[in-house]
Amino acid sequence: MTSHSSERKSGHFVLPGERLGVIEEFIPDTGTYVSEGVIHSKVIGRALLDLLNKRVSVYPLVHGATVPKVGSTVIGQVSNVQAENAVARIFKIGNKLLSGIFTGVLHISDVHIRYVESMFDVCKTSDIIRAKVISEKNRVYHLSTKDKSLGVVYAFCSQCGYTLELKRQVLRCPRCGKIEKRKTALDYEKGPL
Ligand SMILES: [Zn+2]
Repeated sequence: MTSHSSERKSGHFVLPGERLGVIEEFIPDTGTYVSEGVIHSKVIGRALLDLLNKRVSVYPLVHGATVPKVGSTVIGQVSNVQAENAVARIFKIGNKLLSGIFTGVLHISDVHIRYVESMFDVCKTSDIIRAKVISEKNRVYHLSTKDKSLGVVYAFCSQCGYTLELKRQVLRCPRCGKIEKRKTALDYEKGPL
């Protein structure tokens, strides 16, 4: 456990939901939340590890009240996938980083103009997706990836976590060789995050 802690550096860039440590080693402070004993970042920013006082906090990089709107193109990280739905944490609108976490839901009927059989062939947990907001209800944003420019922009191997490479329409892990399926965006792995 200590070997992990010593690798972490103060000031590193973190995304909402990113793991910062556990409550046994740090006291969660500003810009963090705790889930099942694990401290996560609530915002996009720089993590500050105060080793003397054993406190961890995150200083947001962006301030203000930018929220996704219907019609916005957003970037999010997939946090959960079910047979018919995927949930993503939206952290960017267009090129603008957001100061908080927004929940986006992608339903299987909004993935593609074609019929999609299983959400597990569309995206996986921790993938980065680009999507369009099609409706909003109680701060839950419904997403669509029905366009060539939309879909998974970065996918990670479900076996080893490495970034999958797209070659000749095949997504393959350069480390372990696993071949996976996603609904990728046209600029998969090419666009800046
Ligand atoms: Zn792999």
